[in-house]
Amino acid sequence: MAEFDVDLFVMGAGSGGVRAARIAAEHGARVMVAEEDRVGGTCVIRGCVPKKLLVYASRFAYEFEAAAGFGWTIKGAKFDWPTLIANKDKEIARLEAAYRATLARNKVEIVGSRAVLEDAHTVRLLKTGARIRADKVLIAAGGHPTLPEIPGADLTITSNEAFHLKKFPRRIVIQGGGYIALEFACLFAGLGSRVTVVHRGDEILRGFDDDVRHHARVEMQERGIQFVLQHTVASVEKKGRALCARLSDGAAIEADQVMFAIGRKPNTFGIGLEQAGVALDSRGAVVVDASSRSSVPSIYAIGDITDRLQLTPVAIREGQAFADSVFGNKPWTVDHANVPTAVFCEPEIGVVGLSETEAKADGRAIDVYRTSFRPMKATLSGRATTVLMKLVVDRESDKVLGVHIVGEGAAEMIQLAAIAVKMGARKADFDATVALHPTAAEELVTMRAKV
Ligand code: NDP
Repeated sequence: MAEFDVDLFVMGAGSGGVRAARIAAEHGARVMVAEEDRVGGTCVIRGCVPKKLLVYASRFAYEFEAAAGFGWTIKGAKFDWPTLIANKDKEIARLEAAYRATLARNKVEIVGSRAVLEDAHTVRLLKTGARIRADKVLIAAGGHPTLPEIPGADLTITSNEAFHLKKFPRRIVIQGGGYIALEFACLFAGLGSRVTVVHRGDEILRGFDDDVRHHARVEMQERGIQFVLQHTVASVEKKGRALCARLSDGAAIEADQVMFAIGRKPNTFGIGLEQAGVALDSRGAVVVDASSRSSVPSIYAIGDITDRLQLTPVAIREGQAFADSVFGNKPWTVDHANVPTAVFCEPEIGVVGLSETEAKADGRAIDVYRTSFRPMKATLSGRATTVLMKLVVDRESDKVLGVHIVGEGAAEMIQLAAIAVKMGARKADFDATVALHPTAAEELVTMRAKV
């Protein structure tokens, strides 16, 4: 294809873009990737990975607290934020280098520049002005956290900045009731901050099962997080060296940082989508079909920029499917049903499949199994905590439609439960599985009484 400089031009070297580029190259394509920031994207550089490292750090506090009941005396435990951030940065740099090395090994050319589409086959690199002609273009430019238009918004932070704070915030106000707000609320609380979560709804985690939403909030309150529901942060101003967050009812909360975690928007602005004729939906996401093809036949899009499911493994899978289908002569599409998900709050939430409300909304008859119990570890630690597990089952077919867990290890448990759900397991299959004792997970196969 001499008329093109490359077979594939990828805009964005995040998890999805890197996977697509690498696999396309393995299938023999000449591939170029443009990345204006660091290679690795949101997940590796400013999302899942650094977040989980901070979550690990925060959990030591609870372990130290629990240790006394098991006979330990912990003296002089001290936490140092700059050490944690420096070690986290070192690990992120290692991962970024590994991503770069993988691309280089597969002969993918990486250019450190913003790329802008000029037409269906032409991309301009802003750094050099070079024009690249590509047979196919893949937009994998991700998304960004949003800030509200309120007075003092410039004084606030998002998750992007939270990873690089010079000073640990002793007090923090976080607006939002979703994944990021709750994960950061819990990790800051674990590390010693006084945390106030302000949320506009009457309960956190809209879209999750109602029992999960309530149970998780109560558990987080038990760990000292304050929730102010049905409120928003209306303005933020400086108060000496601190900040003052004024809420929608006029109440004021003083804090060292005010963070917004109110959702992420696709990075579709300023990359030439209009010039190339790529259609966007009302939320500004690239409209794609099941094969991730946009309204322009030579242009595809994957990951957060398409706003299907904003989850790293989904973007990776979409990238793999794209590369296999377009360059590997092995067409397949991603199934977005029954994707497991976890909120790494404290305690964790793990979910796969339908909530009780969603299952009922489909008009089918369902059975619900629910248990709430004190985990064994809490008997000696003395902590007031309970684990919640819930199964949503289709009455007619006996298929398990949803599994919901709130408790320590929920994310690890749900990954495995998701295999069963994806395979179409019935409640009878869960019942036929012998319990593994003593674990929390054994409750998943011993629930007998319907709610
Ligand atoms: P979410 O969509 O999860 O949550 C956004 C929250 O902000 C909701 O509680 C929403 O309330 C609220 N909100 C939205 N707009 C406003 C507003 N204008 N004023 C006040 N509150 C508002 O977004 P996040 O930013 O937490 O995360 C983005 C996405 O990233 C997640 O949806 C998830 O897909 C992904 N993610 C996944 C993680 C994981 O897998 N562990 C971790 C982090 C992120 P309401 O419910 O009323 O709309």
